[in-house]
Amino acid sequence: MNPAQYPPVPVSAPMPPFPAAAVAPRAASSGQTATYACKVGGVTLGGGAPVVIQSMTNTDTADVEATARQCAELARAGSELVRLTVNTPEAAAAAPKIRDRLAAMGVDVPLVGDFHYNGHRLLAEHPACAQALAKYRINPGNVGFGQKRDEQFAAMIEFACRHEKPVRIGVNGGSLDQRVLARLMEENRRRPAPLESSVLLREAVAASALESAQAAVALGLPAEQIVLSCKVSAVPDLIAIYTALAARTRHALHLGLTEAGMGTRGIVASTAALAVLLQQGIGDTIRVSLTPEPGGARTGEVVVAQEILQSLGLRAFTPQVIACPGCGRTTSEFFQLLARDVQEHLRRRMPEWRRTRQGVETLNVAVMGCVVNGPGESRHAGIGISLPGTGEAHAAPVYEDGEKTATLKGERIADEFIQMIEAYVDRKYARNDS
Ligand code: SF4
Repeated sequence: MNPAQYPPVPVSAPMPPFPAAAVAPRAASSGQTATYACKVGGVTLGGGAPVVIQSMTNTDTADVEATARQCAELARAGSELVRLTVNTPEAAAAAPKIRDRLAAMGVDVPLVGDFHYNGHRLLAEHPACAQALAKYRINPGNVGFGQKRDEQFAAMIEFACRHEKPVRIGVNGGSLDQRVLARLMEENRRRPAPLESSVLLREAVAASALESAQAAVALGLPAEQIVLSCKVSAVPDLIAIYTALAARTRHALHLGLTEAGMGTRGIVASTAALAVLLQQGIGDTIRVSLTPEPGGARTGEVVVAQEILQSLGLRAFTPQVIACPGCGRTTSEFFQLLARDVQEHLRRRMPEWRRTRQGVETLNVAVMGCVVNGPGESRHAGIGISLPGTGEAHAAPVYEDGEKTATLKGERIADEFIQMIEAYVDRKYARNDS
């Protein structure tokens, strides 16, 4: 189909104002059923499937070894899809080699290719790349300019159809399709009560995604093979855009705050935005876009994504450590060190436990700073310890399933408690491999 013949898009009329804040749960507010189920390799996004975690490499994709190694690290940390930049002929040539390298490492995580201006050419010139990738990400604002924009977008969709690959139409507030924005601004000028610029911008982001999806369907891509994302960097904007999108479309939705930032800021902003949406049933896959510390592990964003989903009770990945914040009763660092060591031990053990200890990811372990409030919390955990607070007898009671089973003393409290956790897991969770 000639892109110039795209059917008229009804997005601009009538255009309901965006809600300023979150509304009731998706099913209740929109009356929609689940989103379309989109298969990406062996992973299903949407259609009521559990929310999928994804991440993105920051290596030079042309460096096959480094990129395959990072893909494997991300997958082993729990990333169920891994996206990589495909920006040059060298990167496109590397994609099938990375796929092969991962297969040799026993890692079958689906790879997603992130394309921009030259994506149509790279897919044409590197059919092995087009085949090795499980999904293509296209940003309609970065696919080309003027008439070329439509032609290049259409070419990429045609490759997706030919190779039977799903596509994420990933709009980004920072690279918005200027044509959509200009048209909506013109329409807005003619309104009796023009929308505020911030509301108009939100509408433009959503409209760009919806119109591009409609164009892709018109080009022959099944609606089930389209995932939408509308990433912006302000939390209220993200919530408003996705709340409106969820009411307007059944395409699977990819959630993520773009340019979330580093450290605490990035974690808090991403969590605030994603939690509000996920709690309403909005979102089929998430990525937490954290800027790592220089030399820091890329896998941090996967851990944060897991923690968000587990905190919301949507999925379980690893046993949770319930630790009190500490107060004037905890004058030594021992309690903080024990909470950290227990958390690290549990994460370290998960790759094996995931295979051999069914259900262990739902275990709660309490590490409490004193015996005033600690035993109460410990009783509610699978296993919990209360360390002696300032002025308390040097003894640490341990509770298992609500019953006091030991009182640890002396220098080896940490080692002995970790051994008790191991014994508890052995006893409580059946072996899968027997
Ligand atoms: S459990 Fe004890 S040490 Fe921890 S915050 Fe409460 S009172 Fe303080």
